[in-house]
Amino acid sequence: MRVLIVEDDPLLADGLTQTLRRQGYRADCVGSAEKAELAVGQEEFGLVILDVGLPGMDGFELLRRWRAIGQAVPVLVLTARDALGDRVFGLNLGADDYLTKPFATEELLARVAAIARRARNQSSMRRVHGPLALDMGARRASLDDKPLDLPMREWTVLEVLLDNVERVVSKEQIVTAVCTWEDDMSPNAVEVYVSRLRSKLEPAGIVIRTVRGFGYMLEAFAPPGA
Ligand code: CA
Repeated sequence: MRVLIVEDDPLLADGLTQTLRRQGYRADCVGSAEKAELAVGQEEFGLVILDVGLPGMDGFELLRRWRAIGQAVPVLVLTARDALGDRVFGLNLGADDYLTKPFATEELLARVAAIARRARNQSSMRRVHGPLALDMGARRASLDDKPLDLPMREWTVLEVLLDNVERVVSKEQIVTAVCTWEDDMSPNAVEVYVSRLRSKLEPAGIVIRTVRGFGYMLEAFAPPGA
């Protein structure tokens, strides 16, 4: 898991980085909220360890901004202020956990491991393909962060395609995958569902290719202009 440490105290920052690296995390460090905002905007992190007291923008303000734009990266807040109000404030802003300085290394590692575990569980419930996201638990789909209406059959066909990105899936394979809920579905019906999926997904740049005589293939998502 990749961890971004946002800490302006160089000694503490270095200690945290070394500790996490020894535990097998890929740890990077920045000294300000502005740099953290930039880094998280450009790259994917599994966790941000965020100090509250920073030069310039403080940690709480950065956290507030991230949650306001839907940036859901897990955040562990480090605060020197042990006032209950601050902890509650941080958690209300969308922090996943907090630690009060000074803290024991073992406690930090235990909390980081707990957040990593939760993130793993959640991501297995969520499928993402470019701008498309399927929340498997809630059975909700979104495209470009807008709700996407996907009836059950289309959902199931799409799931089969998502399991096989860049691999050809035959109509028969799709029928087999969905026949528990629709025993009499014909391979031709698959065409109907694929065509409905296409009309919904293609405007967002998601391509389901027809491979003549074989079936369909969901192409790897390439952002426009990439
Ligand atoms: Ca600080």
